[in-house]
Amino acid sequence: MICSLLALFSLFSPAMAAARERTFLMLKPDAVQRGLVGKIIQRFEEKGFKLVAMKYMWASEELLKQHYADLATYPFFPSLIKYMNSGPVVPMVWEGQNVVKTGRVMLGTTNPVDSAPGTIRGDYCIQTGRNIIHGSDAVESAQKEIALWFKPEELVAWQSAANSWVYED
Ligand code: UDP
Ligand code: MG
Repeated sequence: MICSLLALFSLFSPAMAAARERTFLMLKPDAVQRGLVGKIIQRFEEKGFKLVAMKYMWASEELLKQHYADLATYPFFPSLIKYMNSGPVVPMVWEGQNVVKTGRVMLGTTNPVDSAPGTIRGDYCIQTGRNIIHGSDAVESAQKEIALWFKPEELVAWQSAANSWVYED
């Protein structure tokens, strides 16, 4: 009884609902080749976000074309697909309050020349075509991207022991 009341409360508590927002992040082939996988993941862990899913894979051209379908008409599309298909990538799902927006802030701007120091792209890259990490730009696109890269059973629901030290309510 108490358990089901708690479950009900957590479903309707705004803070808990916000904490369940998820984003799709992917370390691109240059992040893997340059040995930056651990450093980049560490930033999201240290921020307080929760890792929900992660893979290490060489993505097919077909999957990458689907992932970047919105950009298919742009002149850089073929080189983008070639770059993303040039080696292994690390697709991930991260969870936390405002993780989509905050994730984008942590990434920095698309063109690293405009990315502030302290952001991932600001600290580690120079050109747009080698900007080492992808991050969903909205909650809706995050949901689409998560569904494209992960099966529902690959998303691990778990309670972090640090939860009450990261969130006050
Ligand atoms: N890109 C590129 N040239 C451009 C714009 C984008 O090579 O002029 C690549 C770059 O890798 C970028 C990706 O295409 O990260 C997706 O572009 P988007 O505008 O969605 O940027 P993002 O959301 O990654 O910041
Ligand atoms: Mg984008």
